[in-house]
Amino acid sequence: MPTTCALCRRRIPDERIDDPAAVQEHHLRPERRAESPTVQLCRPCHDQLHALFTNEELRESYDTVETLRGADRLQGYIDWIRGTEKLDIDVSTSNRVRERR
Ligand SMILES: [Zn+2]
Ligand SMILES: [Zn+2]
Repeated sequence: MPTTCALCRRRIPDERIDDPAAVQEHHLRPERRAESPTVQLCRPCHDQLHALFTNEELRESYDTVETLRGADRLQGYIDWIRGTEKLDIDVSTSNRVRERR
């Protein structure tokens, strides 16, 4: 079974699966870690989620993979990331770049 990112559905190469810089576990209900279901996300998707949503928003409105995938705020990002092979992008840099436009 290949591991894929739950959000962008890109395949994680086997040799990176144990690399926390490439794949991370996301708690669908942040701050309720003990009871929260988790999903595997590639690092860019995980960084992006936490850059765009507060823990409260995640917990209240986006606590399933389906709602995250359907979130308006993520559509541009998902379209973009699906076209790349990158597993370690610097999200804080791209946010800064966006603000300068
Ligand atoms: Zn991803
Ligand atoms: Zn997370």
